[in-house]
Amino acid sequence: MGGFASQIVFKKSLKFPGKLGVVPAKIHRTFDGKIKTVTVSMNCAGKYYASLLFDDGLPDIEIKSEGKAVGIDVGLTHFAVTSDGSKFDNPKHLKKREKNLKRKQQKLSRKQKGSNRRYKARRIVARVHEKIANCRSYFQHKLSRKLVNENQVIVVENLAVKNMVKNHCLAKSISDCGWSEFTRQLRYKAERDGKIYLEIGRFFPSSKTCHVCLNQVGSLPLDVRSWTCSSCGTKHDRDVNAAINIRDEGIRLLALGTSATANGRDVSPRVGRKSSVSKAVPVEIGSPIPL
Ligand SMILES: [Zn+2]
Repeated sequence: MGGFASQIVFKKSLKFPGKLGVVPAKIHRTFDGKIKTVTVSMNCAGKYYASLLFDDGLPDIEIKSEGKAVGIDVGLTHFAVTSDGSKFDNPKHLKKREKNLKRKQQKLSRKQKGSNRRYKARRIVARVHEKIANCRSYFQHKLSRKLVNENQVIVVENLAVKNMVKNHCLAKSISDCGWSEFTRQLRYKAERDGKIYLEIGRFFPSSKTCHVCLNQVGSLPLDVRSWTCSSCGTKHDRDVNAAINIRDEGIRLLALGTSATANGRDVSPRVGRKSSVSKAVPVEIGSPIPL
């Protein structure tokens, strides 16, 4: 639902143009500026939400690439692993709620079709779904905010590519934990703050490459959590090594695509080192650099 005539009234309701008029609402925060559009949606649990788009009249944000860069990998045993060596897990109570959901769904399936009990059970299932979604959303917003606050350049692997590269089971677990929603949050938060969000959009053996000497191992079964590079002897945590490679590849693309360089404390030497790699790896013209 759109309309320039929509407005917030006394911080407690929303005024729509036409018949709808003033509707009581919970306003979570206030803004200065003009409402451009209002989108109203209802979820399966029967709750209504209004999403407000404001024009704040402020000039567009200038994008800078100086500062710390971080690479983020989807871990097999963790939700996300960063090139700094941090590992983030889905909150534990999420699992508990998912079990609860399964039970409620089984209850629903036993109810007779078209019955009032079935209708009620369906609403209950929807409410549990909503709780799980909220819980996951809260966790992802908190984490994406933290990562964007702490870094100037955020590099992730493109999910489509990732699913193509990895096996089916992993593809399922990635989609289950909402990786695409998480990267969406990283992207818009980075853009809003004038930071750089980068997706590595081509086949890139991030797990199998030693980030120190760039030696590649032939195979690395999914259950191998850590490995030692046969060339330089560095012991790697599988996921952290992958995240570091993702970060370095992002910095390399950034250095190629624009004149900008990442001058973060631990970033600039890698730009130099990586430029030698571009000789060994064919440079893909038109790698997506969303600037
Ligand atoms: Zn090595």
